[in-house]
Amino acid sequence: MKRTSLIPELRQIIAQEKQRGRVIALVPTMGYLHRGHLALIEQAKQTCAYVVLSIFVNPLQFGPKEDLSRYPRDLERDVNLIKHAGVDVLFHPTEQDMYPHPIVTYVEVSQLDAVLCGATRPGHFRGVATVVCKLFHIVQPDLAFFGQKDYQQYLIIQRMVSDLSLPIEVCPVPIVREEDGLALSSRNVFLTSEQRQEAKVLSQSLIEAEECLLAGERSARELEKQLREKISRNCHGVIDYVEVRDAGDLSEVTIIERPVLIALAVKFGSTRLIDNKVLEVIPHV
Ligand code: AMP
Repeated sequence: MKRTSLIPELRQIIAQEKQRGRVIALVPTMGYLHRGHLALIEQAKQTCAYVVLSIFVNPLQFGPKEDLSRYPRDLERDVNLIKHAGVDVLFHPTEQDMYPHPIVTYVEVSQLDAVLCGATRPGHFRGVATVVCKLFHIVQPDLAFFGQKDYQQYLIIQRMVSDLSLPIEVCPVPIVREEDGLALSSRNVFLTSEQRQEAKVLSQSLIEAEECLLAGERSARELEKQLREKISRNCHGVIDYVEVRDAGDLSEVTIIERPVLIALAVKFGSTRLIDNKVLEVIPHV
């Protein structure tokens, strides 16, 4: 595996591979890797001859009161973890490499960025879209892989690619979970053992919502209410949002008739966890 922090060196490496006719995949991450990230790499490897993994904790997507300074970082641990994963080149730029001077050009994917995580983290998705657009220009991948754990992020990137006619296929990868259902996240290391224990209620509540839907519940508000109650009863976490929205464009839903996204964010102390499930509706016969 090659590794570089330098944009010109990475461009050179990729130009060579493109000349050889290789299909290039990009897997963008913020590091402190886990099995969720490995699933993205694995899927990339299955479809593309050359896999670029980026690790960059992007300051643009953190609000002033968020956890940028304490976000876990350990490059050597990450390098060890991906030794046999099939990454061809690891790109790990510094902040100076990515933003040598204060940035004044941004990519904003409006509407989609105003709801769910965007409502409570203003500027977050502008930071995400800007850094991903920049990575797309640096790497020029044919395919890029994003986890459905960050479903809103995946939709936003897909929309950015479509609106700006970028020649890139955006590929979603299903959520990887712990045995008890908790979605893997680099932030899980911050949970106390009690919080970790309680956090399993998030995925359990999503499963319960699916069962309610299967049993015939079609009211989005009623599902949200039941989810909120289940979470509040079973943990000390503070609910940021629990919402049922259209899975295609995140628009509001009252009666569930099309595929919906059930998304939630809950704060355990200062650690904010997100989870979601896309639910199809089987029409009544
Ligand atoms: P992050 O390093 O948290 O910014 O995540 C980098 C990529 O990995 C994003 O596309 C995430 O959606 C994806 N990812 C993170 N956790 C998971 C997970 N548990 N399952 C699937 N994908 C994930």
